[in-house]
Amino acid sequence: MTTPYWVAGSPSTGEDRVEVRTPHDGALAGVTSNATAADVERAVAAAHAATGGFAALPAHARAAALDHVSRRLAERADEVASLITAESGKPVKWSRVEVARAVSTFRWAAEEARRFSGELQRLDTDPAANGRLALVRRAPRGPVLGIAPFNFPLNLVAHKVAPALAVGAPIVVKPAPTTPLVALLLGSLLAETDLPAGSWSVLPLPNEAAGRLTEDPRLPVVSFTGSGPVGYSILDRVPRKHVVLELGGNAAAVVCPDWADAADLDFAASRIATFAMYQGGQSCISVQRVYAHADVHEALAGAVVARVRELGTGVPTDPATDVGPLIDEAAAARVESWVAEAVAAGARVLTGGTRTGAYYAPTVLADVPRGCRVVDEEVFGPVVVLERVRDVDEAFDRVNDSRFGLQAGVFTHDVRLAFRASTRLAVGGVVVGDVPSFRADQMPYGGVKESGTGREGVRAAMDDLTEQRVLVLTGL
Ligand code: NAD
Repeated sequence: MTTPYWVAGSPSTGEDRVEVRTPHDGALAGVTSNATAADVERAVAAAHAATGGFAALPAHARAAALDHVSRRLAERADEVASLITAESGKPVKWSRVEVARAVSTFRWAAEEARRFSGELQRLDTDPAANGRLALVRRAPRGPVLGIAPFNFPLNLVAHKVAPALAVGAPIVVKPAPTTPLVALLLGSLLAETDLPAGSWSVLPLPNEAAGRLTEDPRLPVVSFTGSGPVGYSILDRVPRKHVVLELGGNAAAVVCPDWADAADLDFAASRIATFAMYQGGQSCISVQRVYAHADVHEALAGAVVARVRELGTGVPTDPATDVGPLIDEAAAARVESWVAEAVAAGARVLTGGTRTGAYYAPTVLADVPRGCRVVDEEVFGPVVVLERVRDVDEAFDRVNDSRFGLQAGVFTHDVRLAFRASTRLAVGGVVVGDVPSFRADQMPYGGVKESGTGREGVRAAMDDLTEQRVLVLTGL
């Protein structure tokens, strides 16, 4: 059966068949079709036409729809998790985590929809404004084109759809070509709500058609999550639009000298091993670089290698699997070539370093010279690089020695060091006492430097998707 896509709230099917294959063994995970040009036009025209009316829809109605989707995702969690695993190869234990996160993304959006309004600002702090008051209201910037990557095929689509619907902005969302099925299932849940038909569409599209769609003036906001080259090509294409870019990184963890007893180091090692390798390292905040103080480096390195070797690798449908295949064989071959480049330059492989088809073994490297891609670029694979540093300042300098800046993790008990990290590290977020990979879906999330612009996290995205409209009242 061909899974339909969604045009202005209704199902539709095109002629351009898309076979979705599981990365594990190439078996068919499902079939859908790319949206036809006529359907794209219908979706965009409907979003444009729905703009004013949707923004005027009462908050309780928008919140009820978002709550409904949250509830239905929770009810169908097992089925949804299986679908994520089938199309992306994500180990099912992590697919379940992703579904739980999407449940909370929609629930939080419902809560924020109820309280999102604006602020009252007094103006009489200046004699020229005696008797005046400003209402700072928030209005949607207009219909949104959301473009999502493959690595969280449900929750990152949720991060496009839920905040837009919460503020009353119509949205056309385009899932990744490798992972459209779960986004289409999400569409079937949106179709159960009373949201106005024109307020949402889910359209699988080839990249070229998606690129053309970014130029449509009826979609003044483009919210993109994916790789830097594609994100910046969109910005170049539509520099006058409001473009939100959530891009990649080479996230780092710092292990400070006070994080030294056996239990501390074992915890850090376990978290580093898990979150360098989970879902094959295909997370934008996967731990890629670790800078450990000389006092703790050796013990940490031994513990990380031991923890990595304990990870379950294999079939993603097995609930015991921690690390499954990458999205395709080409991705695994790229990671293999980057590790080979590091080894040729003098790096040591402490564990891993082998490939079988789309599977790349969880790999720990040491002594990687500067300039190697496993350090400088985003690996997006199950590879972590361990480095010894003299002191915390050197560690912070090394973290900042990157063109990316998404999140960093700092293992310390020292609250002053935590504040210093937050001030010194050029990243969107610092996680103290844990890896950089921690993300709660309601917190502001995004990058500096080439990791992007704008912020997601439900409330932050709602701010981003709206603009301030000031109403000055006089004679009060
Ligand atoms: P990608 O850039 O290849 O694709 C992302 C999306 O863009 C897909 O839907 C793709 O079809 C679409 N696309 C491709 N070419 C396009 C074009 N010319 N015009 C319009 N759309 C186009 O990324 P990916 O491989 O799917 O995802 C991995 C990347 O996403 C990594 O770099 C990762 O770090 C990043 N990412 C960032 C975040 C974040 O929140 N910062 C979260 C997850 C993933």
